[in-house]
Amino acid sequence: MPTYKAPVADMVYLLGDVFNAEETLKQLPGHEDSSMDLFETVLEAAAKLCEDILTPLNQPGDQVGCRLENGQVRTPPGTKEAYAHFVEGGWMGLSESTEFGGQGMPSVFRFLLSEILSSSNMAFSLFPGLTLGAISAIESHASDELKAEYLPKMISGEWAGAMALTEPHAGTDLGILRTRAVPKDDGSYSITGTKIFITAGDQDLSENIIHLVLARLPDAPAGTQGISLFLVPKYLPKTDGSIGARNEWSVGSLEHKMGIMASPTCVINYDGAKGWLVGKPNRGLAAMFVMMNAERLFVGVQGLGVAEVAYQNAAAYAKERLQGRGPQSAKGPAPIIDHPDVRRMLLSVRSFAEAARALTVWVAIEMDKAKLLSDPAEREAADDLVALMTPLMKSSFSDLGFEGAVMAQQVLGGHGYVREWGMEQFVRDARIAQIYEGTNGVQAMDLVGRKLSVGDGRLPARLFALMDKAAADASALPGGKEFAAPLAEATALLRATTARLHDRAATDPAELGAAAADYLRMMAIAAYGWMWTLMASNSLAKGTSAAPRDLEKLELARFYLTRQLPQVYGLDRAISAGAAPLMGLRAEAF
Ligand SMILES: Cc1cc2nc3c(=O)[nH]c(=O)nc-3n(C[C@H](O)[C@H](O)[C@H](O)COP(=O)(O)OP(=O)(O)OC[C@H]3O[C@@H](n4cnc5c(N)ncnc54)[C@H](O)[C@@H]3O)c2cc1C
Repeated sequence: MPTYKAPVADMVYLLGDVFNAEETLKQLPGHEDSSMDLFETVLEAAAKLCEDILTPLNQPGDQVGCRLENGQVRTPPGTKEAYAHFVEGGWMGLSESTEFGGQGMPSVFRFLLSEILSSSNMAFSLFPGLTLGAISAIESHASDELKAEYLPKMISGEWAGAMALTEPHAGTDLGILRTRAVPKDDGSYSITGTKIFITAGDQDLSENIIHLVLARLPDAPAGTQGISLFLVPKYLPKTDGSIGARNEWSVGSLEHKMGIMASPTCVINYDGAKGWLVGKPNRGLAAMFVMMNAERLFVGVQGLGVAEVAYQNAAAYAKERLQGRGPQSAKGPAPIIDHPDVRRMLLSVRSFAEAARALTVWVAIEMDKAKLLSDPAEREAADDLVALMTPLMKSSFSDLGFEGAVMAQQVLGGHGYVREWGMEQFVRDARIAQIYEGTNGVQAMDLVGRKLSVGDGRLPARLFALMDKAAADASALPGGKEFAAPLAEATALLRATTARLHDRAATDPAELGAAAADYLRMMAIAAYGWMWTLMASNSLAKGTSAAPRDLEKLELARFYLTRQLPQVYGLDRAISAGAAPLMGLRAEAF
């Protein structure tokens, strides 16, 4: 069975040494009592819960899966007890608003907890993941009455959340969804329609399940301008807050799927279910986007989490497995860690995971700055960066997370392919993060189609300025040029690619779609390089007091900046070829 040890030391290093989170967060209202001691205590407790309770359930949960029993979803044995531990520990409300009973910790803890949860049990991580997304949409768009009625129970974890967008004919294109909402005299709505692929649409863990459902009002205009958002509980709450009658929706079936077997993926039939409007009529997509943006960042972190646990198991195996003779081994058989190709695979996964974790910590701090800073210009700057990073994190973390899981599986050879070692589960589980919450292709379109054009390129300009500064800072340190030059060059190239894409898209809109996926990857590979230059600078600045971790970070930065970052050159060449090579073949010829 695979093992997992949460990378708390690396998280503490990032928060303390690299990003000085204590000082930054202390300046924000509500986080004045931030301290590294508190951060470490929280992370250690999260690690213990996940290592002791969720990791041991991961493989059995995959093998047993979820069942539909007389219309009720049953999760695998042990899940209910694990969820009860999670709720008792107050983990759902870790970073949620104190106004509704949360602990109000900085957002970075929600993200780091999500990583640890995803490494230990990706299927389980979806239960809190969906609930936290629903909480954010309700908090930002629902009426005060709905907030007071639902948020305390959801933040405590007694009630859980789900997100119901997808219909059989409407996936990416939500504008064509058909579920209807008819207003009733009491101010509620009657919801009718079928949704598919609803994660945790039903389960046996929480007392109630709150669906956020996209539907159309009778007079709604066609397309995305005619979609409204509704809160539809499984049980209708009574006035005293206890649960009442069963609402009129049912689980049609559970999907049989490739991975995340312990997470129920439900077909839900709404047959005149009672719901309440969240936000304004016909503006449901804007309200749902709050949930979707939260989920996109969470799904990215799932990719990181699976890559981390897959790496840990592959590295442990590579130190034990004896095969052949490495270039520096005196005689064989030597541990496979001696082989350069095995090192290539392990370093690729690790250098991605550590850079992605660094980027996560940075983005999470920017999120709190965007919400809490007093200066509107500073808030806007932070908000711009989070908006730019949302599709990038969702897509590149999940792509590289999956590729990392495959590479880690490869390290085990045939033993990676058989069930016993658990590596094939990581591969199967990681795959979905590239698909749900808006496919990675659609994330890339969001990046190039929307995010690059805001304010005449204001968003990428802010990122490039930070990357330039990191390169300049590194360059000023003794021994820093080695870590500054690759980043400076990659940033200059990315800036030029961005400008060229902007010019070409002005004359041919197909250019954006043709460049999107490669451009997102190019920006992500460069952004990870930025993180490695920051970490290398931190090690260099410590001089003779550098600890073993700092020296390891220098080695990893060397690997990343020389062996991974150069991918930007190939991607630039592919992007510069433009749309023509994609659009040449007639559709009938495929
Ligand atoms: C396990 C699982 C859990 C899920 N959980 C939920 C959930 O909780 N709630 C929920 O509402 N949904 C959920 N989904 C649905 C998921 O979000 C959708 O499957 C996903 O958004 C893609 O929609 P689709 O499957 O209809 O694919 P389609 O939209 O048909 O896309 C097919 C292909 O075409 C591409 N494509 C489509 N449109 C464009 C475009 N405009 N430009 C470029 N490329 C395009 C896509 O990238 C994709 O490669 C889940 C799905 C799965 C499998």
